[in-house]
Amino acid sequence: AIFDPSMQAMVAERLQLEGDLRKALDNQEFYDRNRPQEFYNHYQPIVSLKTGKIVGFEVLVRWNHPQQGTISPLKFIPIAEETQLIDRLGWWIFQEGCAQLKRWKEEFPHLFFCLNINVSAIQLKQVDFSQKCQEILQSFSLEGSRLKLELTESCLLEDLPKQIAQLSEIKAIQVQLCIDDFGTGYSSLSRLHEFPIDTLKIDRSFIHRMTSSTGHYATVEMIVALAHTLNLNVVAEGIETGEELESLIKLGCEFGQGYLFSRPLDSQAATEFLRKNLNP
Ligand code: C2E
Ligand code: CA
Ligand code: CA
Ligand code: CA
Repeated sequence: AIFDPSMQAMVAERLQLEGDLRKALDNQEFYDRNRPQEFYNHYQPIVSLKTGKIVGFEVLVRWNHPQQGTISPLKFIPIAEETQLIDRLGWWIFQEGCAQLKRWKEEFPHLFFCLNINVSAIQLKQVDFSQKCQEILQSFSLEGSRLKLELTESCLLEDLPKQIAQLSEIKAIQVQLCIDDFGTGYSSLSRLHEFPIDTLKIDRSFIHRMTSSTGHYATVEMIVALAHTLNLNVVAEGIETGEELESLIKLGCEFGQGYLFSRPLDSQAATEFLRKNLNP
């Protein structure tokens, strides 16, 4: 036998999830009112560390599986990527996020804040990616400058000229670009300045240990300095304690996100959070 029983069980579970993912997407896309929507977006505030004001929200997708309950994106995004289903799922998340941003724009016309959307390397490889972004933005009458795409360092590894051309096309419609989980991937520091990016997001693993480990503190310090030298914004993710916040302010980090401010919220709770942030 090639597979032992435990491997067989794993393969079976994966196949099951893949099939369920496909079914959930079919339901979602055809807006079948008789069936519950399994995917929904959560929104986590990103705040200015100087003023405490909201500067944006990161969109984090959720899957409420009919039998298994909530499944983490850490589990189903990789399956969606391997099966190319990420393309359909990604556009659904994108549209839903834009619909929410439009509602917020209407309720809070004097506030300018952005929506951060995670994009996987596979989505970015589509030749018509930026055109589709533009079409969706237009259909919701949203300016490109309202949108930031979060890319991982793995998006920037292969075929550099092609990647740079693709990113430049996105920038041409005023959409901004962030490198997510910065410091955990393999992007070459020496090439960072060649990409038309706006923001570095420091990975949570560094923030989490910066107050207990001098090595992690030094890494955060270096990333903030690097970002500033390259004229990039910097966002610290996963801020959980006041001590971490103080250290980050001392290092000159401008923006942050984490449980200290808020967990990811459903659209209603995020709207409440915005109202409170406006009139504290
Ligand atoms: P990520 O992009 O690095 O997202 C940040 C993760 O950190 C989120 O986990 C968020 O809930 C969590 N987080 C935020 N603040 C804190 C904190 O203070 N402490 C701790 N311990 N965690 C915090 P989540 O929502 O489970 O998402 C996990 C990953 O799944 C994301 O990591 C991202 O890589 C992927 N993902 C989520 N939504 C999407 C999506 O819409 N598209 C794609 N392509 N990937 C997504
Ligand atoms: Ca992210
Ligand atoms: Ca991240
Ligand atoms: Ca991460």
